[in-house]
Amino acid sequence: MPSEQKMPATQTLDTLGRHMRDLRISVTDRCNFRCTYCMPRELFGPDHAFMPRASLLTFEEIARLSALFAQLGVTKLRLTGGEPLVRRDLEQLVDKLAPIPGIKDIGLTTNGSVLTLDKALKLADAGLQRITISLDALDDPTFRALNGVAFPVDRVLAAIDNATAAGLAPVKVNMVVKRGANDHCIEAMAEYFRGSDKVLRFIEFMDVGNSNGWRLDDVLTADEIVSRINARWPIEPIAPNYAGEVANRWRYSDGAGEIGVIAAITKPFCRGCTRARLSADGILYTCLFAGVGVNLKSLLRNGAGDDDMVERISNVWHGRRDRYSELRSQETPELKEKSKIEMSYIGG
Ligand code: SAM
Ligand code: SF4
Ligand code: SF4
Repeated sequence: MPSEQKMPATQTLDTLGRHMRDLRISVTDRCNFRCTYCMPRELFGPDHAFMPRASLLTFEEIARLSALFAQLGVTKLRLTGGEPLVRRDLEQLVDKLAPIPGIKDIGLTTNGSVLTLDKALKLADAGLQRITISLDALDDPTFRALNGVAFPVDRVLAAIDNATAAGLAPVKVNMVVKRGANDHCIEAMAEYFRGSDKVLRFIEFMDVGNSNGWRLDDVLTADEIVSRINARWPIEPIAPNYAGEVANRWRYSDGAGEIGVIAAITKPFCRGCTRARLSADGILYTCLFAGVGVNLKSLLRNGAGDDDMVERISNVWHGRRDRYSELRSQETPELKEKSKIEMSYIGG
């Protein structure tokens, strides 16, 4: 039972000396958006085969696994997907995760499309602490084109307000920047969120999966993003909130708050990567760019006990060598031909 967990018995280190601290849990591979950089509609059309319901981990299974990860040192959980809020009654999962000993932080990443005030309040009541809402532009035609389903900007802005009203502040806002698609919207986004309690984070367009047609030329680099913001509103770097923080933080020199820049392509952060990932069907991956994982669901459903499961997970982490982003620039044939799991499957 998850509620009976022991506190971390061992320091779980991988082959590069990295701890396991975070678990990103994809609760579904489905999504109501078709973002061009994630689930392009040409490839995720009406005939796309999503995971059958029976293969999804149940909330009880996710909670049990989370408790086992907590025994190995995980303190932070993030629910993601696909779109996590299309999984019904997600607050019931949060309710099961919140009491797990050792878990200090539970977050959610969502496109905000179905985040009503009522839902935000239920999630917060159940123990959700933090929320990140993705929004790639304030310009309505640009956003509608990028999300692939013509979803309007104002409904995502309403979701951000709902999250804030439910006490899930400060809300983080993720903007993936793709050259030629929405890079003309950077300054408008910065201007809108400057001086608010929201933290806007710019993300370099990543080569996740094999279906988003990624090209290096489409990446607007972190340096370009920073210099464009700095040209309008001077900014200065600030220290990370904690070791291994993925976003580089910058504050506006005039005191109007801060932004984050996630330079996964140009300034890889594999050295500090403490993240494990669990797909909605229960496969454990040790890297966002992994091609294969370990099937924890079948172990669970075949009756493995907690000690066996902990040992298995610990062994996977001990053997972890992943540092894809650091190796990407080497462009070895092996890396070029690497088949990677889609982001909607593994969880962003
Ligand atoms: N559906 C939710 C959402 O969009 O927030 C959660 C899942 S989504 C895969 C998690 C995050 O990954 C989002 O902020 C999304 O913008 C980001 N993302 C997806 N594909 C990406 C890519 N190719 N490069 C960079 N970020 C990406
Ligand atoms: Fe859906 Fe999020 Fe991927 Fe967009 S980024 S398609 S909202 S999972
Ligand atoms: Fe972590 Fe893999 Fe990303 Fe490197 S490439 S930061 S190891 S998820």
